[in-house]
Amino acid sequence: MTSRRSVTILGATGSVGRSTLDLLERAREDYEVLAITAHRDVEGLAEAARRVDSRRAVIADETLLEPLRSALAGSGTEASAGDEAVLEAAGAGADWTMAAIVGTAGLGPTMAAIRGGRTVALANKEALVSAGHLMIESAGSSGAALLPVDSEHNAIFQCFDRARPEAVRRIILTASGGPFRDWSLEEMRSATPDQAIAHPNWSMGAKISVDCATLMNKGLELIEAFHLFPLPEEAFDIVIHPQSVVHSLVEYVDGSVLAQLGSPDMRIPIAYTLAWPDRMETPCERLDLVRTGNLGFSEPDPERFPALGLARQALRDGGARPAVLNAANEVAVGAFLGGRIGFLDIASIAAETLQCYAPAAPASVEEVLDIDREARACAEAIVKRVMR
Ligand code: NDP
Repeated sequence: MTSRRSVTILGATGSVGRSTLDLLERAREDYEVLAITAHRDVEGLAEAARRVDSRRAVIADETLLEPLRSALAGSGTEASAGDEAVLEAAGAGADWTMAAIVGTAGLGPTMAAIRGGRTVALANKEALVSAGHLMIESAGSSGAALLPVDSEHNAIFQCFDRARPEAVRRIILTASGGPFRDWSLEEMRSATPDQAIAHPNWSMGAKISVDCATLMNKGLELIEAFHLFPLPEEAFDIVIHPQSVVHSLVEYVDGSVLAQLGSPDMRIPIAYTLAWPDRMETPCERLDLVRTGNLGFSEPDPERFPALGLARQALRDGGARPAVLNAANEVAVGAFLGGRIGFLDIASIAAETLQCYAPAAPASVEEVLDIDREARACAEAIVKRVMR
């Protein structure tokens, strides 16, 4: 009999976290859940802990320890609370850790899991965007396997010949174009949060859904891809592909282009990282090419979606620029979701923050977090000025 692999889910109550729980629930004989974490969703966390019989449940907001204890009464799951407890759970040595906290809040826990030297399934792209070099270095020294969960990077990972990176000429990231793909700038100006989070193909958390609508998500993914796959910045292209069936492509020097296809369901890339290097069955809808019919591809429009250009420039500039961009975007998306600014203000606030705040390249995670704090303060001041 083979022993069960131990797993931990950081951000278990979110969209990626719930998809992960769904897979684990179907394969209970293969996996043992050490810990699951959330920010404030006590009910969701307790319910998840019961579903997968987690040994430990951790709520980041330390004022919620007692409510969590009550919600877990009789379950056998130990409760703990606070950012330190999340870090401790992240670094507790699970064989496989899902890093699915949203935003830079996930940086510390993701780094703690990487330092543990086991397998880390990386969904938390903001952490990689802000601290890419440090994270890749840390994985190199701890021996952690960093497996991308983002469907595009997971697709590239499946097609990329790691033994012969010099044979790869180009990586093509696909983007659905989001809910405003065909909207005019004038229409986008008055777009509401509800319209922005209504993604045509994927069901996701609010922040990433807005990022898909501005195409900042694709910009962050460009930076993410640059850190994960050893090619120069100009070797990464982005094409709009409305059906979200071709998740990304790798072009080789001989002209061959390999792509990974599948239904738009995050359980497919998550399952790939969970079973890696094997494969596991999933309940996901199988791809029906005949029913899908046509696959379309087009160029992204830089005028209606300036976030893409900002991200590429931040990547070219390097240093602290990607961290500043990411922090400013998180603040602006929060302000948009809270009804404080308009949709088009998101990219302008990110652009202005990049202009007014130019720190030196961070040399440690602490420095990344300092830059993140200062960039947020700068972006928040701009939000206050442009508020409607
Ligand atoms: P959600 O907003 O749905 O979930 C976020 C999770 O993070 C929740 O568990 C939340 O807890 C937790 N969290 C939020 N803030 C904190 C904090 N300060 N401290 C500790 N935990 C916190 O996000 P998604 O699942 O959509 O996305 C997660 C990550 O995966 C993001 O980085 C996103 O870009 C990436 N990703 C997501 C995809 C998707 O399909 N959703 C696809 C590819 C990448 P609580 O519920 O208590 O607030």
